[in-house]
Amino acid sequence: MNFRDIVGHEDILKHFKSSIEMDKVAHAYIISGEVGSGKKALASAFAKTLQCEEQKSEPCEKCQSCIQAESGNHPDIIFVTHEKSVISVNDIREQVVNSIDIKPYKSRYKIYIIEESELMTTEAQNALLKTIEEPPAYAVLILLTSNIDKLLPTVTSRSIVLNIKPVRERDILDYLMKEMNLTEEKAYFCLDFAQGNLGKAIKLATNDEYAHIVESVVNMLKHIPDMDVEDLEKSVSDIERFKMSMDDYMDLMMMWYRDVLMFKVTKNIDKVLFKNEYSTLKKQAGNLSYASIDEKINAIERAKQRMDVNANFDVTMELLLQTLKEN
Ligand SMILES: [Zn+2]
Repeated sequence: MNFRDIVGHEDILKHFKSSIEMDKVAHAYIISGEVGSGKKALASAFAKTLQCEEQKSEPCEKCQSCIQAESGNHPDIIFVTHEKSVISVNDIREQVVNSIDIKPYKSRYKIYIIEESELMTTEAQNALLKTIEEPPAYAVLILLTSNIDKLLPTVTSRSIVLNIKPVRERDILDYLMKEMNLTEEKAYFCLDFAQGNLGKAIKLATNDEYAHIVESVVNMLKHIPDMDVEDLEKSVSDIERFKMSMDDYMDLMMMWYRDVLMFKVTKNIDKVLFKNEYSTLKKQAGNLSYASIDEKINAIERAKQRMDVNANFDVTMELLLQTLKEN
């Protein structure tokens, strides 16, 4: 992974490059952004560039350091791992604190990358804090997080915080169509789903599980106006298979009703994302009022929020499907 391979994130790349050019590399960085947004790619490219023997603002890709970084076997780029759903104080002691005073094996820096750093316990963060406060000259810590609020203010205030911004639509489309050879239709579909998150777009385009989710959403929303109570209950248990991906499932449901709305407003099939479902979208757009479509979109949003706070799945979903069924 090199800086030039990264799609979007110009401000963060600019920050990294100028800190290298001005020789003002900090000891602690936090890269903050949602899952799939490119945090690890940015950290890996930064680490590889810092360690390159040429010491320029792009890695040379030829030196031993670059080759080791690319293969994931660089002795001075350390990815902190954890077994359970927490990063314990022992993880931080064993993998960071106890080894950081040992000089780099052969490079200029010794770089630690902590993924999902929000999983660090308070104790773990306090152990790390001592290192952040008095780091050896060669040490660079890069914390990645999708929930920066879980990090202690004492940690964030001593680090350079880099916030990931959504990638421009044009850049995502270019990547999907030129690098991944998606059709324009599929690329637009993935783009709308991804909301500026390239990783999410790629997942939708390549992951089989996502193909099943799309199929399930379409199949359910297509038939929902004609479902009886029994059908609705059956649908709830069908949807339960995708419980782990509920956020994505509901984003797709929302895309469906945005399509219904779009078709009602424009009568133009080119503007909708579920193009294969043209006749159903047309029918639903004809049967539903603007207020009713709006109510459905809001209901999905509310259900999404309830799921986020772990509300009862069956009850939330039954309520939602009932609202989606109403005319
Ligand atoms: Zn190099």
